[in-house]
Amino acid sequence: MLVALDSNGKPVNLALKRSQEQLAPLRKSSYYCPQCRRQVIFKAGAIKIPHFAHKHTSTCFSFSESESERHLKGKADLYAWMSNYSIAKIEPFLSPLSQRPDILAANKIAVEFQCSSLTTQLFVERTNGYIQHGYFPFWIYGGPAIARQGEYFKFTAFHRLFFQYSDVFGFWFLAYCPEKEVCTFYSRLTPFTSSLYKASVQNIPLSRLSFPPLFSKQQSIPRFSFAHWLKQKHQWVHKQLYFQQGKYHPFLSDVYESGNNPFLLPEWVGIPVRHMALFKSHPLEWQFYLWKEGLLHTIEEAVACLEKYVEKGRLQLNVFPLIQSPNLYQLVEEYLALIQTASPESLKSSSHTYKQMEREKRFSAQYEELIISRLFL
Ligand SMILES: [Zn+2]
Repeated sequence: MLVALDSNGKPVNLALKRSQEQLAPLRKSSYYCPQCRRQVIFKAGAIKIPHFAHKHTSTCFSFSESESERHLKGKADLYAWMSNYSIAKIEPFLSPLSQRPDILAANKIAVEFQCSSLTTQLFVERTNGYIQHGYFPFWIYGGPAIARQGEYFKFTAFHRLFFQYSDVFGFWFLAYCPEKEVCTFYSRLTPFTSSLYKASVQNIPLSRLSFPPLFSKQQSIPRFSFAHWLKQKHQWVHKQLYFQQGKYHPFLSDVYESGNNPFLLPEWVGIPVRHMALFKSHPLEWQFYLWKEGLLHTIEEAVACLEKYVEKGRLQLNVFPLIQSPNLYQLVEEYLALIQTASPESLKSSSHTYKQMEREKRFSAQYEELIISRLFL
């Protein structure tokens, strides 16, 4: 923690930069936790930035976990940055909701700089607590760097909790690295599998960023090739077949039970669609169920159909606590708009693998541009 009370009950804020000489007199006083009022230790050693800590095992409601250097420094950096642009309070206790964000900016932006993993339930509870009391939750990821896998970035279920959405940037994710003092902004996040994403990436030193941050809209769109997408789609099916007990995989058994072959489905089943990140399931899965049900004519019917399969556990949605819109309605609307352009022939499954390869080539030539142009706004 960066703020504690001295013996007169006055807050002492260690997020404000102090020299060793300025810190020296502070060592003589006693300090108390603003939450549980127990005595805390003043720590100003050589490694971690100056901070306060509970003694040993603490059952403190607000400050239960021991804080890493990364978290302490990140919190102090972000506080200093935000203070340059608006009123910022560090570790304030918001009594109506009994929550203590890392920082409160402009009296309404509740900032959480999250370095360690957190359960989905806790992330959702904290987020909803802020929203219900009129605060704007602003989560910044501070954990280990997002791993790269070739041209993809790996966003785990925990990372995906931080996703936000805007029309300009599509799905986006913000990270801050206290060691480098650099913010990394991932935008136009486009899933190729449930955890591998393509993205536009901007690295910006915190000192060059205003608050609230404004990122460049001129960022290039991630390279997207339809041939590559098809290859990944086929690989995905192979993986499900070989690693997840083949026909006993619920989706694949539904495909076989309906008299189809997952490799011979129409080309329109399993295309990339804007907002597809809403689903954790592959587009092949949810688009298959829509197709199997005869591509219901109204958006409402199609949404109800997908919700039914979600309820049955056949399809999985991602949990995005920070995103209210887009929702399934907009995803289905976009997919059905694309399908409008399909020829009746291309909505039938093929009979042979070689025919399917030919069809896919023709399909790519005809629709690649349209599909990719609609992926990003
Ligand atoms: Zn305490």
